[in-house]
Amino acid sequence: MRVTSFPLATLRDTPSEAEIISHQLLLKGGFIKRVSSGIYAYMPLMLRVIEKISLIIEKELNKIGCSKLLLPQLHPSELWKRSGRWEGYTEGEGIMFNLKDRQDRSFGLAPTHEEVITYIASEIVKSYKQLPFCFYQIQTKFRDEIRPRFGLMRGREFIMKDGYSFHSSKEDLIDFYKIMEKSYENIFENCGLKTLGVEADSGAIGGGASKEFMVTADSGEDSILFTKSGSYSANIEKAISLPSREKPLNNFSKSLIHTPNQKSIKDICKTNNLDPSQIVKVIIYKAKFEDKSEVPLLVCIRGDQTINDVKVFNLIDKTKKSNLITLSIIESDLEIKKNLNGLPIGFIGPDLEDELIKKNSSWEKKWVRIVDHSAFNLSNFISGANKVDFHKFFNSWKFIGDNYIEADIRNSKAGDYLDKDSSEILLEAKGIEIGHIFQLGQKYSEKLDAKFSNQKGLLENIWMGCYGIGVSRLAQAAIEQNHDKNGICWPIQISPFQVVLIATNLKDPIQEKLALSIYKEMQDYNIDVLFDDRDERAGVKFKDADLIGFPFRVIVGRDAVDNQVELISRSKKIQLKLSSNELIEKFLNESKLL
Ligand code: ATP
Ligand code: MG
Repeated sequence: MRVTSFPLATLRDTPSEAEIISHQLLLKGGFIKRVSSGIYAYMPLMLRVIEKISLIIEKELNKIGCSKLLLPQLHPSELWKRSGRWEGYTEGEGIMFNLKDRQDRSFGLAPTHEEVITYIASEIVKSYKQLPFCFYQIQTKFRDEIRPRFGLMRGREFIMKDGYSFHSSKEDLIDFYKIMEKSYENIFENCGLKTLGVEADSGAIGGGASKEFMVTADSGEDSILFTKSGSYSANIEKAISLPSREKPLNNFSKSLIHTPNQKSIKDICKTNNLDPSQIVKVIIYKAKFEDKSEVPLLVCIRGDQTINDVKVFNLIDKTKKSNLITLSIIESDLEIKKNLNGLPIGFIGPDLEDELIKKNSSWEKKWVRIVDHSAFNLSNFISGANKVDFHKFFNSWKFIGDNYIEADIRNSKAGDYLDKDSSEILLEAKGIEIGHIFQLGQKYSEKLDAKFSNQKGLLENIWMGCYGIGVSRLAQAAIEQNHDKNGICWPIQISPFQVVLIATNLKDPIQEKLALSIYKEMQDYNIDVLFDDRDERAGVKFKDADLIGFPFRVIVGRDAVDNQVELISRSKKIQLKLSSNELIEKFLNESKLL
């Protein structure tokens, strides 16, 4: 390809809209153009990267017997209603774009495809003899993200590879999941990326075990906790660990403490000479269910710890019959006071009983009390006295009876011990999630009635797994991991071109002739070359080549008279003078280049 065959539009200045380096470089290099918030055009150079990544994925998935297909992006609401996800995905903070057709029927633009693929499986699978199989596609997904940002990292329209496997038993699903895990490792390695596999939460997709593949980078939106030895790594949403020990609360004499205007833990600690680890804080959440019911949650945790909303969500989702749609902290004093006979936030204690809750209010006899292990392990502590302007000293949890759930609902953090028998301490890093694999189990097949007749002739729900890769996010994450002050340093496997050919003076007939003959020969040999044939100074072309990040540059200069050219790697580690024949040789024998 010649540079003059498409308008290469590199920018001199760093666009102010881009906060992170990979986004800046994509815009500066003319790889992408913003059309609207979170919506980008993939320009020719970018599309080549996307296509190369897609080919690497396809090759690896085909090897393990997956079949490629293409599913519709307009999904009828009925399918999503059957899975119970329509409301959660379209109301409140739901991320599904939705629309109506001319007959007033509702549709959603696909953010993911579990519903559609399970419906298809329900139509085509009859017997265990047809199982297992795995379908995948590479296609645009739509998500109306609350905070689209960082270019392709969090787009509202982005390219995903999504795959779905179908099995006749849980064991078969688990075996295939492990094969897929290995396949993912190969894919990322073949893209030239270093990734870290972490235990993950299954989120709104649901199901059993799941693993995320992360590119570690300071700009990552995910937090990963891991041990130095590599024995453990998990997304912070999922990580389990032991907090550091609390400060003992000895010789505390007062049973009731007057704490006027001391609503925060910081205030209470400062005024009463206490440590946050000696306090139990009580936070009220509201859980909304698919059947429109609402339940208040009284969540107790040690004062120096924070609550992990994902863990609370999963806990409540498991214990209730109806699908949990949203979970949010009640931050309005007014709402709390209305239901708790005037008691405001900040003074609520873990021993809140029904008597305090306003008679006939929507909260009465409905609330669920959750106590995190960190709080439950305290033998004595200070907490709200359920009385305005007062806190209380508690010397046991005996009051609690059996009206509570004790669970791990805490955010793990760096510095925590892995567990009580371990001397390993957790470290934290930021990560970009580029892939995610899940064991879905029978969650969707049950809802969408996708059954097969098993070996005993009985009908059984199909066992499913699903496997995603953010193709466009991966491309940008590769830049986050591979760049220097002059621009992108693409891994050779996914670079838009492997080599750029530059003549320092195209007006010199000898240089022009040699450059053209090298270009032609490289094309004949299918060497992935871009010929920078612009009427520009060599310096401009070199600068662009560094910015765009081709792994190799071939320079035809004054030595063209002796049929000599220069081959330089992007890192400048390889710098060779060689004849045009030797040059072609090098590219044909790729191992010499890597
Ligand atoms: P995130 O937690 O980052 O919002 P997710 O867990 O919701 O992502 P999945 O449903 O697991 O995403 O989707 C599979 C893959 O698609 C992710 O691992 C990620 O690489 C990619 N992806 C998800 N959302 C976006 C987005 N808004 N823009 C670009 N890629 C995305
Ligand atoms: Mg995910």
